[in-house]
Amino acid sequence: MKERIHEYCHRLHLPVMAERWSAMAEYASTHNISYSEFLFRLLEAEIVEKQARSIQTLIKLSKLPYRKTIDTFDFTAQPSVDERRIRELLTLSFIDRKENILFLGPPGIGKTHLAISIGMEAIARGYKTYFITAHDLVNQLRRADQEGKLEKKLRVFVKPTVLIIDEMGYLKLDPNSAHYLFQVIARRYEHIPTKALGNGEKSWETRAMLDRLLHHSIIFNLKGESYRLREKRLQEEKQKDQ
Ligand code: ADP
Ligand code: MG
Repeated sequence: MKERIHEYCHRLHLPVMAERWSAMAEYASTHNISYSEFLFRLLEAEIVEKQARSIQTLIKLSKLPYRKTIDTFDFTAQPSVDERRIRELLTLSFIDRKENILFLGPPGIGKTHLAISIGMEAIARGYKTYFITAHDLVNQLRRADQEGKLEKKLRVFVKPTVLIIDEMGYLKLDPNSAHYLFQVIARRYEHIPTKALGNGEKSWETRAMLDRLLHHSIIFNLKGESYRLREKRLQEEKQKDQ
C-alpha cells in the first residue's frame, strides 16, 4: 500500500505529500493527532511548498537584475521620499487602479531599488512581474518588428501585471523609439487607440504616451546625492574623526 500511496501522490502532483505522509502518519499515531489534523497538516505543507515554488518561478521570469526589498532601503539616507507613500505603494492598490509609478531623479539615489522592491512585493503576492530597461525594450521590439514578430514580442511586455521599465530617462525619445514604447503603454491600457493611428503621426503618439503616463501616475521626485557616494563620504568622515 505504501508504494501505491507514493505513486498516487505523484500522479496527483503532490510531491510533498508523497515524501512526508508516511513520517507524518507515524507521528500522528504516536502523538494523538486526529485524522482531520493529519490531513490538514499534509495539505498545508503541500500548499506552502507550492507557493514557494511559484514565487521562485515568478522571480526567474521577472528578469529582475537583483532581489532587493524595501527592508534594505534606508529611508533616513533618502529624505526626499516619504516612507508612508512607499508603504502605500507596497499595498499594491495601484494595480487595481491601473496607475503608473514614476521615480524621477539623478543616478544612484534608489530609483531602481525602490522599483525592484515593489516588483518583489508583487511577486510575493503572485503577480507576474517583468523588468527591462527602456533601451532594451525598444531594441527588442524594433528587432522583433523587423523580423515580423512584433505582436508576439509585445505580449511579453503587455502580459505581466507589473512592468518595470528602468532607465526611461536615458532613452533618447526619437519618434521611432517612442512608437514602440507607445505600443506597450497603449496596449496595457486598452482605451488608447493604437490601430487608429496612421504612419505620419508619431509625434501624436509621443504626446499621447506621455499624457497617459503623467495623468495616471504616482510621481516621486527623488533628490540628493548618490547613495554609494554618500556611504563613501560618511566612511571617510568617520576615518578623519578617528
Ligand atoms: P538609481 O536607480 O536611482 O540610479 P539605484 O537604485 O540603482 O539608483 O541605487 C544604487 C545603489 O545604491 C543600489 O545598490 C541601491 O540598492 C543602493 N541604494 C540607493 N539608495 C539607497 C537607500 N536609500 N538605502 C539603501 N540602499 C540604497
Ligand atoms: Mg537605476
